[in-house]
Amino acid sequence: MGRITLDKVRKAFGDVEVIPPLDLTIEDGEFVVFVGPSGCGKSTLLRLIAGLEDVTGGQIRIDGKDETAVPPAKRGLAMVFQSYALYPHMSVRKNIAFPLRMAGLDRAEQDRRVAAAAEVLNLTDYLDRRPGQLSGGQRQRVAIGRAIVREPSAFLFDEPLSNLDAALRVGMRLEISELHKRLKTTMIYVTHDQVEAMTMADKIVVLRAGHIEQVGSPLELYRAPRNLFVAGFIGSPK
Ligand code: ADP
Ligand code: MG
Repeated sequence: MGRITLDKVRKAFGDVEVIPPLDLTIEDGEFVVFVGPSGCGKSTLLRLIAGLEDVTGGQIRIDGKDETAVPPAKRGLAMVFQSYALYPHMSVRKNIAFPLRMAGLDRAEQDRRVAAAAEVLNLTDYLDRRPGQLSGGQRQRVAIGRAIVREPSAFLFDEPLSNLDAALRVGMRLEISELHKRLKTTMIYVTHDQVEAMTMADKIVVLRAGHIEQVGSPLELYRAPRNLFVAGFIGSPK
């Protein structure tokens, strides 16, 4: 399960209100993209959902349960970081198993989950290598594997592909979409890239200065952008 509800969630850093009160529902299994220009609050919103930042006001519910004050490790969500967050001195196997070792899972369960994730990500033959011996795409898959083994109710991605070259980005987009089809787990994906938003999302949330300009499917936003900001951002003809 992975239905996430934000109810008047707001965030201020000191006197600066970065996210004014915001309501949003993400349905179980949805692929939701937060899109908007740099500095509009995408990462902050994702970090609030993950529990990496405390809300200044409002409530976050996951599958109906109030998780507003629950620490990140207990929310059952997994944040996917860019591949440079891997440990270079550890094997792929150890990198993927890392969150499970931290959580104190027994060795057999760790091995079972790592094998299952490696299978989904086509990394089975690479488990004994180190990140430095992998391609950029394989390294990014290891970073995703580290999230998969936690068997989260939702995956949270913050511009995971922004450090990859253009060709690799296209491939990784397809891989993440394919992963969503296979796992059917809720995914929230932050990007400032319109093409990623339009090609990957079930639902796009267009953000501007911390508030939601429009929510809709790529086709809805393309056909009926609410204003010029949305039209300009999505690249639709209004
Ligand atoms: P985005 O991810 O869309 O580029 P962010 O969520 O990173 O935007 O930032 C939104 C706004 O909040 C920016 O103005 C940024 O400077 C500010 N901000 C983010 N994190 C902090 C922080 N820890 N302290 C103060 N201001 C912050
Ligand atoms: Mg950001």
